[in-house]
Order: sequence, then C-alpha cells, then structure tokens
Amino acid sequence: MERAYFDHNAASPVAPEVLEAFTAVLRDAPGNASSIHHDGQIAKQRLEMARRQIAALLHCDPKEIVFTSGGTESDNLALFGILREVPISRPHLITTAIEHPAVLRTCAQLEREAVAITYVPVNSGGLADPSSIRAALTPETVLISVMHANNETGAIQPVQAIAEIAHAAGALFHIDGVQAFGKIPVRMDETGADLYSISGHKAGTPKGIGALFVRKGVHLTPMIFGGRHEHGLRAGTENVPAAAALGRAAALIEETLPAASARLRDLRGRLERGIRSEVPNCGVNAHTAPRLPNTTNIYFDGIEGEAMVISLDLKGFSVSSGSACSSGAVEPSHVLLAMGLSPERARSSLRFSLGPTNTADQVDRLIAAVASSAAQLRRLSPTYSER
Ligand SMILES: *Cc1c(COP(=O)(O)O)cnc(C)c1O
Repeated sequence: MERAYFDHNAASPVAPEVLEAFTAVLRDAPGNASSIHHDGQIAKQRLEMARRQIAALLHCDPKEIVFTSGGTESDNLALFGILREVPISRPHLITTAIEHPAVLRTCAQLEREAVAITYVPVNSGGLADPSSIRAALTPETVLISVMHANNETGAIQPVQAIAEIAHAAGALFHIDGVQAFGKIPVRMDETGADLYSISGHKAGTPKGIGALFVRKGVHLTPMIFGGRHEHGLRAGTENVPAAAALGRAAALIEETLPAASARLRDLRGRLERGIRSEVPNCGVNAHTAPRLPNTTNIYFDGIEGEAMVISLDLKGFSVSSGSACSSGAVEPSHVLLAMGLSPERARSSLRFSLGPTNTADQVDRLIAAVASSAAQLRRLSPTYSER
C-alpha cells in the first residue's frame, strides 16, 4: 500500500536540496561557530549565510534574525522577553482565543507572573476583528500577539491592521508566523511585526530549528543564559547544520512559492469539491476567511474525528483531527469552539494539509477513502441519520 501524507501543517518532509545543505554542514563543517580557528570560521560562515538567506526571504536585516530551537521557543522568547523587559508592575497583553498552545500556555504562565491578559474572540469565519483588539487596549498594553495563519483552519488574520492599532497605542506587535512561513509571502517591511516567529520543520527542514525576527531597537530579556551567542538573546552552541537547512529552505521558498501555492490551491479545491460531492452533511470550516492555500478543515456530522483519522490511517492516509499537539486528548479543538462550532461538530472535524509531495492522484484516492470511511462510521453511529 502506497501511503499519502496530508499532514504538512504538523511536519513537512525535507526537500532533497535542504537535506543536502544539512548533510553538507554535518560532513564538512564540524567546528563550533564560536571558535576562532579555521574550522570554527567555516561553521560561522555557514551560520551567517543561513541568516542572510532567511533575511532575504523575509525582507529584513540579517542582524534581526535570532536562531532558536523552533516555533515554541520563538513564541516563548517573544512573550517572556518583552513582558520581563518592561518596567511597569502589571503590564497588559492582548492575544486571541485561537492561538497555538505555544502562545496560549505561555500566556497562562505570564498570568501567574502578574501579567493581565485579554483573549479576544474570533468570528464564525475564524478571524480576529481588529476593532475588538482596539477596544481591548489599556494604558498598560505593552504587547499584542496574534498568529499570522491558524494551524487548524488556515485562516489568515488581518495582521497589518492589527499592527497599526498596536503601534498607534505605543504597544509592540508579535506575530506567530509558523504556519504562514513558506506558504504565503511574508515580508517584515509589510506585516508591521516587531517580532515574528518561524519554525523550520513546518517548512521542510529537520525538526529542532526555528527563528525569531526581532526588529532593530526592540529589547528582549533572554530566557537562556550562557555564552554570547545570537546577539546575547539565545545562549548555546548554534545548531549550524539545521540553521543551514533553514537557510536553504528559505532560498527554495523564494524560488518556488508562487507556483507551489497555485498548485496547492488547485489540489485543495479539488479535494474540497470532491469530498463535498461524495459525502453528505459535511462542510468546510472557516471557508469565508482568506486561507492558506494548502489547508482545509472539514466537519463530518455524526462522526468522531479521531475514529476517522484511524480509519484513514488504515487506508494509508495521514491526516489530523484538531491540532497535532492536542491529538490523543479528547477535548474538541479550542479553535473550532472559539468560532462557535458545537462541541460535536468540532469533534467531527478533520484537517487536511497539503504540501509539495501531494499529487492529484493522491487527492482523488483520498476523496474515495474519506467517502467510504464516512459511510462506514455513520452506519455504526447510533445517532446519525441522513438528512
Ligand atoms: C507548530 C506550531 C508552533 C510550534 O512550533 P514548533 O517548531 O513545533 O515548536 C507554533 N505556532 C504554530 C501556529 C504552529 O503551527
């Protein structure tokens, strides 16, 4: 059985060019980038080349890129880094109800450290309304943190409008850009971000590398102390092979993004049309929002999402119910609940996220598999009846 992978928002396969950049550094640059000898300098050059490649894609200065271990660390560094830096005694942070746990759980910890937090709601299309963010501002608001694109629905948030609101109020703006990076154009001279988190493995690198864009002039308190790596913001010997992979991935994204996103948008359309014509009583969540081209989130009334994931897995397809981070937990997705879906409908929803390896043939086989799994599971359901 030939498997087909439809879970690129959880982890995306490493492209051959990226693997080559990664292994070339492992093989040829064994030094520590802090050492002054030849081998250290080779490693340092590879690290700085990667930083330039990422900065070129993001349209920022290489000095504004800080390497981290991934999206979670970037989000933590942005939030803790700003909130621990500000001199006021009870600072205020605004975020949304649909953030990734890397932001939401960090916020929960900040609340224990006397930070006041407002979680603004989203509409039924999965979008945060800039005017509710403006309404939540207080004189103590120091930071607004909103994701660029949601990992479960793909809904793209109005980040530019939110940036203007933040800056007019004298607050900083952090964007969790983990899902947007590599899927839509992302430019630091356009988003208005003061801080922007990215992760490698969601964009085709090995796991364990990410970066935080820190706009010139923005001061952060580090979370990890030690040597003076990464402008003193992130101590620890740099993961040069993985950084080189992220740099190569950025260059690849720059070359291929327009064609790749058009191709994925077509495949996603084919998948949505196919499922909606083959399966009764289903629908696309957040379809009214601007969305990432590769992501679709679909509810199947009367079906338990986890059961569908297992059924499709047995047929050779990897898909996700809710976010990967909460898979295994029985709670329905906090993102879909925040959009106003009933707990039953939220639990019945699946995420299909496409990527470079997917083909039209795989999509057609997936449609057939979804239709047969849905029919099978509904026959077993004591409550489901065709309307
Ligand atoms: C995956 C993800 C993260 C966490 O990134 P890791 O590199 O896995 O730590 C943060 N935010 C969003 C939106 C994500 O999808």
